[in-house]
Parts: sequence; C-alpha cells; structure tokens
Amino acid sequence: KQTMRLDKLLAHSGYGTRSEIKLLVKRGGVQVNGKKAKDSGQQVNPEQDEVLVDGEKVVYREFVYLMLHKPPGYVSATEDTRDPTVLDLIGGEYSHFDLFPVGRLDKDTEGLLLLTNDGKLAHELLSPKKHVPKTYFARVSGGPVGAEDAEAFREGVRLDDGYVTLPAQLNILEPGGAGTEARIELTIMEGKFHQVKRMFEAVDKKVVYLKRISMGSLSLDHTLALGAYRELTEEELTGLR
Ligand code: URA
Repeated sequence: KQTMRLDKLLAHSGYGTRSEIKLLVKRGGVQVNGKKAKDSGQQVNPEQDEVLVDGEKVVYREFVYLMLHKPPGYVSATEDTRDPTVLDLIGGEYSHFDLFPVGRLDKDTEGLLLLTNDGKLAHELLSPKKHVPKTYFARVSGGPVGAEDAEAFREGVRLDDGYVTLPAQLNILEPGGAGTEARIELTIMEGKFHQVKRMFEAVDKKVVYLKRISMGSLSLDHTLALGAYRELTEEELTGLR
C-alpha cells in the first residue's frame, strides 16, 4: 500500500539518525528484497518489502505509545519558546516518531501523560463525547474538604466562566482543615482548562499539589520516577482502545 523513504523506516526502527543510516547504506549494510540498497532515500513498502540490516530483518512499527510520569516545570506541548516541553524528556531513539502529548497537564501538574503519534487513538481519548474518566490526586488548602464538596461535585459546579461541570466523583482521603491540607482523589469525565483547580475554586478552596493518576483504564506505573517513561504494554494498549 504505502511507501516511505528507506532512511525513515530505518530511523523509526532504531538504526540511528538519517546521516548514520546514509553511511550504513553506503557501506553496503542494507538489503531490500535481497538486493544491496544504494540510496537511503529510496522508497520502500514497510509491509511488503523485506529490509535487512547486516543480514538481520528489520521489524517496522508505525505507532509508539509512551507513559510518562510528568514532572513539574514542563509544558504539555511539542514546542515552546520559554519552557522545556515534555518531549524534551524523551530519548533520541523516539525522535523520528513525531510524538505528541495526549491532552494537557498544567506546567505545575505531575503524573500520567500519554505520548503517542497515533492521532486516531488520541482523538478518541480526548473527544468530549467519549467522557473518558481521569483521576487526580490533590492536596487542597482552605479548610476541610467534606461531604458538601463531594455533593457539589456530584451535582456539578459553576466555574468562573459560567460553565457547569459534569458529575464528578470526589474521594476524601484526609479531610484536612485547621491548617492542614486535605488529601483527595477526584475523577472527572471531561477536561476543561485548569478544571480540577477551578472546581476547588468554585467551592472556595485551593489546589496546592496536583497529580494525575489515571486516564481511562490506564494507571500511572508507580515504579516510574518523576520524568521517567516507558512504552505501554499490550494489555494497557488494548484496554485504551
Ligand atoms: N486540572 C487542572 O486544574 N490542571 C491539570 O493539569 C489537570 C486537570
């Protein structure tokens, strides 16, 4: 069906940068359908052509799915003029995949962020119609968090721009109050700008720490340090689809 440049296919498959691949082709290390490749820019069909590097069959994949434990201080974008982006945390072996973050976490928010180049899956996870649940852990100041807050969030609260939120589930881990912060988990089915922070503002409280712990069926891997990432497992990927 679709053809692509040989150097792109090899870069995607982890055989180095375009210039390294050019050298690899030049020294005769690459074969396409049994013939020595002469031009790293030649077109190949990754599904039909057999490509060998030093006699080893190249396994091509189109899509990559990474789970990142986002640290604070990074923006959820592919480029930014002022701040480092979450893509700056990802190693060079993924640089040819055009990864982007699926949705956004605020610069100061931590936790689960999915990075992929699969636009279709991203669209499905972000579509407002799909109501994919997202669960956050937060520390909250400004008084105890109680049953009235849980009730308000279940009913929907009016944000500063007049928008009324969909029903959300508040789980109070520690109510806080009298100078100590509350610890809560909140599950929302939508993703308005600064939504969790603004929901607490609507009940006169303040989020002082925010971390996303799940998105749909995907949960943050607790063994990932801040700033670390790994590919999704087959099971995780199947669960998201
Ligand atoms: N809600 C927020 O307020 N910030 C985030 O980063 C995510 C959800």
